[in-house]
Amino acid sequence: MDGPAVELDRRLTAALDERRRQGLWRRTRALRDYDGAEATADDGRRVVVLCGNDYLGLAADPRPAEAAAASLRRGGAGAGAAHLVTGHRPEHAELEEALAAYTGREAALLFSTGYMANLGVVSALAGRGSVVAEDRLNHASLIDAVRLAGARGVRYRHADVEDLARRAGSAGEERGRRVEMVLTDGVFSMDGDLAPLPRLAEAAERIGAVLAVDDAHGLGVIGGGAGSVAATGCDPARVPVLVGTLGKGFGVFGAFVAGSRPLIDYLVQFARTYIYTTAPPPAWAAAATVAVRLAGEEAWRRERLESLVRRFREGASASRLPLGDSQTPIQPVLLGSAERAQAWSEWLERAGLRVSAIRPPTVPEGGARLRVSFTALHTEEHVDRLLAALDEAAARFPVDGEPPG
Ligand SMILES: *Cc1c(COP(=O)(O)O)cnc(C)c1O
Repeated sequence: MDGPAVELDRRLTAALDERRRQGLWRRTRALRDYDGAEATADDGRRVVVLCGNDYLGLAADPRPAEAAAASLRRGGAGAGAAHLVTGHRPEHAELEEALAAYTGREAALLFSTGYMANLGVVSALAGRGSVVAEDRLNHASLIDAVRLAGARGVRYRHADVEDLARRAGSAGEERGRRVEMVLTDGVFSMDGDLAPLPRLAEAAERIGAVLAVDDAHGLGVIGGGAGSVAATGCDPARVPVLVGTLGKGFGVFGAFVAGSRPLIDYLVQFARTYIYTTAPPPAWAAAATVAVRLAGEEAWRRERLESLVRRFREGASASRLPLGDSQTPIQPVLLGSAERAQAWSEWLERAGLRVSAIRPPTVPEGGARLRVSFTALHTEEHVDRLLAALDEAAARFPVDGEPPG
């Protein structure tokens, strides 16, 4: 007699076999000695890391690490409780103040991760039964936030403001349900393009909905560091809810919401992912505070990134690589099938370039790609090596309808 434990493993094994057969198997590969541009792979070879989110090259910077070390020595590793119990420390308070100042908002509130920030915001502001409009290509954490909050999601076509207005209109007429919130990535995480924020803000105001922007990939990186709101020329007052993360451009970990004092006070009272979880280690907050300061002070990092992105796009369009329409450090090479994306990725790996393949369900079916991304610590030589290897991959594993590189 097989019990439920054996039956469970049998069911899981069947699902895993299916995943493998579809070419969608994912696994972690440990990297050592990352320096902001290169790292050592598990086989001991040095690889150029060209698919992370450490855009400013701060993740391996010794200064945030030193601040964390000092905090660890002073107060230990753990916060010991949730913020509202006994877990709040001067390090957290200082980071919240730095983030409010950095974003030009009245206040900011820390969350352990961007995933939890989004879940907290959506479930506190648009609970069960509310209607929330969302871009189809929003990050999984926003899609899940709507689902887990029990809200009704109305998905509009990517960056299509007319489609948003149309769907909001029919949701209102047919079901007597007004859209209360519009949710969008600022920079789309897999495509690198920007949401049309001024027009989205206008549409949201017309509908009477609150616009919330998740600027995980924009803050610190574009718009002179002020993110996608500045980069698109949007008035910040029209984006009342701004979500940012600290694990991408700022190179550390964690997330925050920035906005008006009433918004932040409300989230402290009602955002369950803030209330019912242990406060992050104070040392983490100490590191992030330094990283935010460095992102503000060291404008060369953004200038460097811009010039690397320009060099890459010029080279890639000269060899007719299927690039996406992105001016940010996220540069997708659109390859269609998961198998082709995997073949290109493996080819690059042999050339010492780490660019992992992004496959469904992270991107839509047929939308597999290499998501190339740059950091401020990459060199022109890194970019040129990448371009040469991409040319070779194009010759070996051509994209349908395109003459090989
Ligand atoms: C990465 C990301 C998140 C999640 O942030 P974490 O801090 O990694 O949980 C949320 N939104 C967007 C758009 C992201 O790219």
